[in-house]
Amino acid sequence: MPRVYNFSAGPATLPVEVLEKAQKDLVDYQGAGMSVMEMSHRSPEYKGIFDGAKEKLKTLMSVPDNYEILFLHGGASSQFAMVPLNLFSDKRKADYINTGAWSKKAIAEAKRYGTVNVVASSEDKTFSYIPELSADMFDPEADYVHITSNNTIYGTTFPKLPPVGDVPLVADMSSNILAQVYDVNDFGVIYAGAQKNIGPAGVAIVIVRKDLVGSALDVTPNMFNYKTHLDNGSMFNTPPTYAIYMAGLVFEWLLERGGVVEMQKINEEKASWLYGFLDNSSLFKGTADLASRSTMNVPFVTTSEELDAKFIKEAASVGLKTLKGHRTVGGMRASIYNAMPPEGVKKLVEFMKKFELSNK
Ligand SMILES: *Cc1c(COP(=O)(O)O)cnc(C)c1O
Repeated sequence: MPRVYNFSAGPATLPVEVLEKAQKDLVDYQGAGMSVMEMSHRSPEYKGIFDGAKEKLKTLMSVPDNYEILFLHGGASSQFAMVPLNLFSDKRKADYINTGAWSKKAIAEAKRYGTVNVVASSEDKTFSYIPELSADMFDPEADYVHITSNNTIYGTTFPKLPPVGDVPLVADMSSNILAQVYDVNDFGVIYAGAQKNIGPAGVAIVIVRKDLVGSALDVTPNMFNYKTHLDNGSMFNTPPTYAIYMAGLVFEWLLERGGVVEMQKINEEKASWLYGFLDNSSLFKGTADLASRSTMNVPFVTTSEELDAKFIKEAASVGLKTLKGHRTVGGMRASIYNAMPPEGVKKLVEFMKKFELSNK
C-alpha cells in the first residue's frame, strides 16, 4: 500500500522522513538495546532525547529565557482548565474571544473558576471570520486575554494579534504552532496539542512566561499546576516519552528545512494554490472570510451535499484521504499542515479541477 495524502485535521499526517527514522530506531534506539518506549524517563539516554527536543523547540520559536517550555499530558483540552487555574488572581476575571468550537470549550471551562467576559464573537456567521478588535474592547484589569490563534474547524486565523496592552495574551495554537512566525514575547502562555502540527497525540506543549507561574488558585490539583511541572522539568510524573521523542524528530526535520520562516513561506504557497482555485471555481467555494483565512485548514463546499459526498468518495479512491469536513459543519476540509508535502496540495487541486469539469 503506497502512502496516501492524508488531509486529516488531527491526528494528522507526519513527515515520512520522521516515520522512517523512528522505524529504523524502533527496536534498538541507537545501540541502547531497547526502544525509546521502554526506556526509563530518568535514564541518560532519554534525558538526551528530552533535552534535545526542548532545545530544538526553543530554537525554532526563539523562546526567550524568561519562558519555560513544558511537555504535558492531557492535550490542549486540559489547558482550557489549567490556564484559568494558574492565571486567575483574586480578581478572577479574563477576556475571551469566541472564534469557534474550541474557544467555546475554553470559555466554558474558565467559567467554572471565575468571570469570563466574551469580548467578541463570530458565532453569528458560523465562525467564518475573525472579529475586528480594538484596544478599548479589553478590560485592562483582566487577568489575561484568551484567543484561539487558528480555528481548526472553520479555517480562520487571527490576521494580527489583539491589542491587549499589558494584559497577558494566552493563545491556543494547537493547529498553527510552528506554521507561521510568532514572537513569543507577545504572549503570556502559548499552548498546543501535538497531534495537528507537531507529532503524534499524547503530548501537549505549553510555553509559559515564568513570572506567571506560582500563584495558582488553592483548589488547583497538583498535576494542573504549572509550578509542579516547571519545578520538575516536566518530569513530576512519567511524561509521554514516545510522543516527546517523535516531536523531537519533527523539530529536527523543521530545523533541517530552514525552520518556521521557511515553513511559513511554503505554507503560504501551498494555501495560495488551493485558495486560488477555490476563488475561481464555479463548483467549489471556500467558506472562510478572505481577511482571516487559514493556511492550515481550508474548509470548502460544492453546490450540494450530494456532490460533497461524491467528491469525498472519489478523492479517497485516488489517495486523497480524510477530506470530510468536521461533523458539525459538513462539506470538506483540507488540512495542509507543515508535514503535508506541496505535491499533495497540487494533486488535490488537479483532482478538484477534474471533478469540476465532469460534474458541471
Ligand atoms: C484539536 C484542538 C484542540 C483539542 O486538542 P486535544 O489535544 O484533543 O485536547 C484544542 N484546540 C484546538 C485549536 C484544536 O485544534
